[in-house]
Amino acid sequence: MNESSHNRFVILGPPGAGKGTQGKILAETLGLRHIASGDLVRQHQANETTLGIASQTYYSMGLLVPDVITFQIVLPEVLKAADGFLLDGFPRNIHQAERLDQELKLKNLQVDLTLLITAPEEEIMHRLANRRVCPTCKRVYHKQSAAPVVDNVCDNCQVPLLQRKDDTLDAIKIRMEEYHAQTLPLAQYYRSQNKLMEVSGLGEVQDVLHRILGCLQEYQPSETFANGPGAQQPNLSLSFKKRPV
Ligand code: ADP
Ligand code: ZN
Repeated sequence: MNESSHNRFVILGPPGAGKGTQGKILAETLGLRHIASGDLVRQHQANETTLGIASQTYYSMGLLVPDVITFQIVLPEVLKAADGFLLDGFPRNIHQAERLDQELKLKNLQVDLTLLITAPEEEIMHRLANRRVCPTCKRVYHKQSAAPVVDNVCDNCQVPLLQRKDDTLDAIKIRMEEYHAQTLPLAQYYRSQNKLMEVSGLGEVQDVLHRILGCLQEYQPSETFANGPGAQQPNLSLSFKKRPV
């Protein structure tokens, strides 16, 4: 592996900005492992592990899970994928970012690039309050913008959709507060290291993706796209030569 290549990404952004959606596609495109800390937390909860149970109250209220629990849930996965990862939801505060840096440094590695996806608060509230998830295949729907064919039923699995426990209005409000107080300072943390790219999360999924790919292309034209451990050509009818829209 080429240690100087850009294989270790972090996606930042407020809840509902589209980190998960974009992260999944980007990771596939770049051949990186997509590690979503929220998914890992939910998996532990579903399996009723000690860590999952310990995280439950914080999670449902919309609070960050304490670092000591988060590290045990997330770090092993990150370190397993140290060759190439795209982190979504971790780090979420300065202490987590410093710990991540320390762990990577032990392997002579670092976070190469962070992507901040932004969206106005009004849009976010609307997206989150209308988000529904399939409990079986985890596909995400929105009551208006990405509605299932049959109201409240997954197109793939034909099972009723659910609302995430932390997508209630009260929890969304707290998540936004947590984001501003704890996570947004990370933008400055990475900006000061010259590792931050900022992209608007407004518009259709494909538009945002175009924007992100355009920025990545400018940041590091050939290496970024060629070097992920399992990089594939994107199946998205996109041209990397295009400028951001
Ligand atoms: P969103 O970004 O839309 O809020 P996530 O699925 O990333 O959704 O996270 C949901 C919740 O999981 C958070 O509100 C928090 O309770 C918990 N969580 C996820 N990642 C972390 C983290 N790095 N540190 C602390 N808590 C976390
Ligand atoms: Zn489904």
